[in-house]
Amino acid sequence: MVSITEALDLIHSNVKAVHTEILPIESSLGYVAAEHIHAKFDLPRFDNSAMDGYAVTMADAGGIIEPQPTIFAGDKSDTKVTKGCGVKIMTGAVIPDGADAVIPVEDTKESEEGIHLPQTIRRGANIRKRGEDIAKGERIVEAGDIIDAYSISQLASQGITHLRLYRKPVVTVFATGHELRMHYESVEDHQIYNSNAPTFIARSIELGCEARFTGTTADTMESIREQIAASLDSDLIITSGGVSVGDADFTKEAFFELGMEVLFEKVNIKPGKPTTVGRIGKSWIINLPGNPLAAAVNFELFARSIIRRLRGENRPYIAPVTTVCKRDISIKPGKYTLLLGKFDTDGFETLPKQGPGMVSPLKDADGMIAVTPQTEFIPAGSEVKFLPIHSQRGSAKSLSIFTSV
Ligand code: AMP
Ligand code: MG
Repeated sequence: MVSITEALDLIHSNVKAVHTEILPIESSLGYVAAEHIHAKFDLPRFDNSAMDGYAVTMADAGGIIEPQPTIFAGDKSDTKVTKGCGVKIMTGAVIPDGADAVIPVEDTKESEEGIHLPQTIRRGANIRKRGEDIAKGERIVEAGDIIDAYSISQLASQGITHLRLYRKPVVTVFATGHELRMHYESVEDHQIYNSNAPTFIARSIELGCEARFTGTTADTMESIREQIAASLDSDLIITSGGVSVGDADFTKEAFFELGMEVLFEKVNIKPGKPTTVGRIGKSWIINLPGNPLAAAVNFELFARSIIRRLRGENRPYIAPVTTVCKRDISIKPGKYTLLLGKFDTDGFETLPKQGPGMVSPLKDADGMIAVTPQTEFIPAGSEVKFLPIHSQRGSAKSLSIFTSV
């Protein structure tokens, strides 16, 4: 048995990123960059106007100018600005030679004599300087960044069409249990629906993987072995059920028979002690417990960490949010305990109802806290480390995730 910290350390030091592929930026959303991308040119590419106004010289402060034909954004103009002679210019248009500033239309007055300018003109006013946004050579995307809409805006603004990305890890999910039926089958009164497999498929997709569902296995060595053999081309195999000490718990045994090397077996955690991580060849394996809530919280800590590493993310560690606890929490001490809860502007509170075998708390939970064994009571107002479920944000370095009082 390992501690949560040891289990996470083992994952982070052993799981390596999958191979890469090249995709057009339009298809890169949610993937992870496998290379640094640098700016090819300055942005803006040229000094340009920040306002609709007049490009003028400072010598004309307080004076009247005669405007030349308007320069629009996108125009190639060779107009020159001289004393007494300004140019009407639209936002985004190239600043003409000789101009010191742009005076917004609303700061000028038009009369028969021409355009009246304000008394003071500040050099550079309303001019967006070449390179002030991004300098040529600057890093705009880092290897390991998750590509989001704003990474795509960086790339597009530089005319970058393709980039090298880590391919999506392939995850195979299956559940074991004689009692399980799929949601599209009928169930007898003594049977239940397999909710874990659809959950982990959906969650793996949310976290940027390609997921395959291969069914439910019976509680026999043969059935589980067959399923494992058919899944060994995946980067990660996620199973649930059959990992404790019950008479029908064969999951781990079947993996061992097929040569699983163990990274850790059992974690000092409540709920979810039987969680085991290992590998066969290039496929990582996580065996989660069958109880849905126990399986889900262990998925969030361990499977998610494996996925972040497989994806090549540069912020692969859990990023706790320090917040306050809104209500008293009493905990049975002696174990590292995970508690699901809700989080908002005012802080964190645990869900009133959460048993390891439940399904319903998961839809309400924003995340959880991990409480140390000696912590028995967390009074309202105490600082807690909230571990979000629905935020993509990870940490570049390993941080303590525990709440202790
Ligand atoms: P096990 O770990 O196989 O002993 O299962 C523990 C509990 O979780 C039992 O009550 C199972 O019926 C239940 N369970 C196991 N697998 C699933 C699943 N895929 N979906 C929902 N409940 C499950
Ligand atoms: Mg079972």
